[in-house]
Amino acid sequence: MKALKDRFGRTHNYLRISVTDRCNLRCVYCMPEEGVAFTEASHLLTYDQIAEVVEVGASLGITKLRITGGEPLVRPDLHTLIARLSGIPGIEDIALTTNGVFLAKQAQALKDAGLTRVNISLDTLDPSRFAFIARRAELRRVLEGIEAAAVAGFHPIKLNCVLLKNVNEDEIAEFLRMAYEKPLHVRFIEYMPIGHADDNWRNHYLPLSRVLDIANERYVIARREDVKGNGPSEDWEIEGGVGSFGLIHPISDHFCKSCNRLRLTADGGLKPCLYWMDELNVKGALGDTAAMREIFAKAMDIKPENHEMAAKLADTALSHVPTERRMSQIGG
Ligand code: SAM
Ligand code: SF4
Repeated sequence: MKALKDRFGRTHNYLRISVTDRCNLRCVYCMPEEGVAFTEASHLLTYDQIAEVVEVGASLGITKLRITGGEPLVRPDLHTLIARLSGIPGIEDIALTTNGVFLAKQAQALKDAGLTRVNISLDTLDPSRFAFIARRAELRRVLEGIEAAAVAGFHPIKLNCVLLKNVNEDEIAEFLRMAYEKPLHVRFIEYMPIGHADDNWRNHYLPLSRVLDIANERYVIARREDVKGNGPSEDWEIEGGVGSFGLIHPISDHFCKSCNRLRLTADGGLKPCLYWMDELNVKGALGDTAAMREIFAKAMDIKPENHEMAAKLADTALSHVPTERRMSQIGG
């Protein structure tokens, strides 16, 4: 096998790696309030083992990585993993998705270790609303983390904003203003039913057409193709603005046709698709390059054509079994 090509002709060059399922926050759309049963530390892939999976992936055409979690910055000495991964031949780009709470202290070390880009999750600019959404009052430290990332030289800094109907949709205009005034790329994300499809999701799912309505009322906007990234974001620039914004709308308009990604969970599950249950554990193949290559090949064989979150919203039958993992146990 030369390249990671699936049955639908999609080439995969992007691996998202969750380094932990633990988190210091409890975002309402991601984890239940009581948390989930966390993986014991002894069952997590070690940094050596993650590097081994990446080495095999890189030999098959993986060039881009994203480190995620849970909250990746709760895993000790993350910069040492970044340094290790950035030295693997073929790896060109290593990004991080973080809630930002511990970023101020680590930004420079991560940059020095070879991290190329950072996405920081920020759903609200209001402290009490932040405490409601994340179930922890940590807005100030997130904002400090964003500042520190800029000082460390990350550019562009992307903000991930999950929009929730009747919770933070009244802040769309404020986030657009941030994108207009600051060198930030604000990515609005639709709330996905990962590991749950309960009333919370049905009541708070908001299609992102709302963002375009508000943007068009206030600004002259135009599609842009050059925001550096590996994902499905539909990017827009604002005439006269410093930053830009993007829409990630997996439900109202899915982007599976161009999917280029695989996911590795913290306990070693290689997932062909975020939504479905199927995954292949890499642990049995550690130390055996041929067996590890086989696992990547199998992931290509079983990768489904698309997720069916829109069907879930419409309450129609699904073709596969959805995952029971919550987003914090996959990595987004
Ligand atoms: N803890 C880190 C953070 O929050 O950035 C990384 C892990 S988190 C699972 C990755 C991304 O997934 C975050 O931007 C978060 O907002 C998003 N996310 C979590 N649950 C989601 C859901 N149900 N629907 C859409 N996005 C979700
Ligand atoms: Fe933690 Fe990120 Fe999930 Fe929030 S979205 S609970 S910060 S993993």
